[in-house]
Amino acid sequence: LRGVVALDGPSGTGKSSAARRLAATLGARYLDTGAMYRAATLAVLRAGVDLSDQAGIAEAAAAARVVQGTNPDHSTTHLDGEDVGAEIRGPEVTLAVSPVSAVPAVRERLVAEQRRIIAAALEEAGGIVVEGRDIGTAVVPDAPLKVYLTADAEARAQRRAKQDSASGRESTVDATLADVQRRDAYDSTRAVSPLRAADDAVVLDTTALDLPGTLAALLDLVDD
Ligand code: C5P
Repeated sequence: LRGVVALDGPSGTGKSSAARRLAATLGARYLDTGAMYRAATLAVLRAGVDLSDQAGIAEAAAAARVVQGTNPDHSTTHLDGEDVGAEIRGPEVTLAVSPVSAVPAVRERLVAEQRRIIAAALEEAGGIVVEGRDIGTAVVPDAPLKVYLTADAEARAQRRAKQDSASGRESTVDATLADVQRRDAYDSTRAVSPLRAADDAVVLDTTALDLPGTLAALLDLVDD
């Protein structure tokens, strides 16, 4: 792969698994931008900042050193030198990540860092698959391939609940559906870089696709 593949969409569309597999298949790097927002959120929670305190959130996030790896076979996230890969998937972070991500100063810092990581990866490996919510619209608006993944809310909740139980976390489809819908609503209506498909993105509905099916569809798009 030469260049950037921007992969956006709400949670539970199979985006992360497909992005990782796509990058590994293409010999490219992989950047999980959601993990960076999650790590910044963990820093905010650890600092004990109230989630309605935008200045406090911005300050705590600015003090956090978030280091995101780009190996598709082993994606790592460090916060101030500590491996937080498991902790950032927990319910506390998942509940707080949308309000933290909506703070403009948080996005400004993380987008700058994402662009730096992408430039370095392009230099090293020639290609990178970047997944998030605003990659095609804000982080890399000139990406040659932008894909926006969608799926029915029910299908997305089922996927998320399955992922949770695979990693030992308890959840029900109903609770997960409520969480997915709450997060989508928040992400889609924030003032800065809301979740939406770029005008020139290919929209791929994964409701009826499994992981191999999604990967095959993405590989077709890369070939075009
Ligand atoms: O992809 P993941 O579900 O881990 O993302 C967690 C949250 O991070 C999203 O719900 C969204 O609030 C935020 N996010 C964002 N912009 C991105 C990636 C994630 O605002 N590029």
